[in-house]
Amino acid sequence: MAHTKPNSDFLPKAMDMVSVDRPSQANESLEDGKQNQLQMADGQPDQLQALEEIISRGLHTFFEVGGALLIIRREELYRLSGYTTFAEYCQKRWDITPRRMRQITDGTEVLNTLREYDDRNHGSLFGGRLPENERQVRPLMRLRGNVEELGAAWSTVLAQAPEGRVTGAIVKDAVATTEQKGTKPPKRYTILADLERGRKLLREAKKELGQHFEYFADQISQLPMDLLDKRIKLAARAPKDGKAVFGTWEWVDAELDCISGCSNDCRYCYAKAKAIRTARYSGKTAANWAEESELEKWRVKEGRKPAHSFMFPTQHDITPTNMGACLGVIDTMLGREGVDRLLIVSKPHRECIQAICSQFREHKEQIEFRFTIGSANDAVLSFWEPNAPQFEERLECLKHAHEQGFATSVSCEPMLDGEIQAVLGEVERFVSDFVWLGKANLLCQRVGANCPGDEEALNRARGLMAQQNSQFIWELYHRLKDHPKVKWKESIKKVVGLPRAVEAGTDE
Ligand code: SF4
Repeated sequence: MAHTKPNSDFLPKAMDMVSVDRPSQANESLEDGKQNQLQMADGQPDQLQALEEIISRGLHTFFEVGGALLIIRREELYRLSGYTTFAEYCQKRWDITPRRMRQITDGTEVLNTLREYDDRNHGSLFGGRLPENERQVRPLMRLRGNVEELGAAWSTVLAQAPEGRVTGAIVKDAVATTEQKGTKPPKRYTILADLERGRKLLREAKKELGQHFEYFADQISQLPMDLLDKRIKLAARAPKDGKAVFGTWEWVDAELDCISGCSNDCRYCYAKAKAIRTARYSGKTAANWAEESELEKWRVKEGRKPAHSFMFPTQHDITPTNMGACLGVIDTMLGREGVDRLLIVSKPHRECIQAICSQFREHKEQIEFRFTIGSANDAVLSFWEPNAPQFEERLECLKHAHEQGFATSVSCEPMLDGEIQAVLGEVERFVSDFVWLGKANLLCQRVGANCPGDEEALNRARGLMAQQNSQFIWELYHRLKDHPKVKWKESIKKVVGLPRAVEAGTDE
């Protein structure tokens, strides 16, 4: 398993300084520093100051480490190092037990909650004076599900701390006093923290909301864990009528590839991120993904039932370099018994589409082209898909296939900007089937894996994810829901509450 260093450079240093189930280590390093200082300038006034700076730095690292861990957990960056869970990452990478990990992250979340609470009140509550170390924050964790109580306890601490010196004992007393007074928890907390009532609420909501239930459930599942019993969160997420299929499985019941690597080298590429994650087998890295080589054995994925619709390719593209091999695959698949439909998905290169149209004109009934066009803006396309054809070439390919009498469709997944109607306006006249719209999924994780150290890409990924929020999707849906050529991918259906396909290849 690769132990890739997370991108927070300070983290290892901070981890060495904070007490992480090896309290003696941190104490030893403090002690060493103290000894050195003592030997250098025994009894000098500035000696104490220097030592206290060391201690103060050590105490602050608790929150620095917590902040770094929270980001790693939220963005699932631990997957970049090959770990499947955050707990596994903490244990194996840093030797932090789950219990200690919770202490660090929960403590940091309490600090963040107080900071936000104070900010919302323009600093009038605490005047920016917040817990400075673990000792101060630890007793407050008991109240972390209730921001009002948390705020009340911390206000009491600040009022009672002599000369502003906050000790653990003062915080403990303030928490106990607040608990005795017992501010009433908000209603939603009472409901959602109670498993039985929560489940009942969900059942009722499902009846009331019908097709909009999934949107509601999705919103619930995004609530912080401390406002919600974990089992309710899971119940809200549970699919209603079987597990929804997503990605390419919405369109087909089998996938096929013959090439390793892809010269288009898209920054958001799912296949690239996966190949890097499994580099031991794939031999692929971020640096060599763009090099294409023919697989010794085609990669075929199909379910238990005999497949009737294949998508080709799924983890590479048809490019001038690999066209010979791809034409061979198409030829073989069209001749295979039981294959009714071959969905050719591509960011199309002119010469490749012309060659396919000309060589397989007798198989028009079996072939459908689906060209990926996530933006009509060449600057946007060039950034996200550096070596793929520009908009005009893709449009020309679509027009060509359409005029040759092939079934044609477009995939705007991922949408790469907020102007997807510009794509729709240009392509719809050459589309015989549908234009599929879909969100950018797991963009930050994929960009993080595919473009290590590329801050611009990561920032743009964050911007795009923020742009494609629920409100944006709802507005898009309302604008285009009656458009005869628009279809929605699973990522959008679950936001607006449309039923999702549960069987591969049934949402063609
Ligand atoms: S064209 Fe597809 S397979 Fe190739 S890099 Fe882009 S997303 Fe990946």
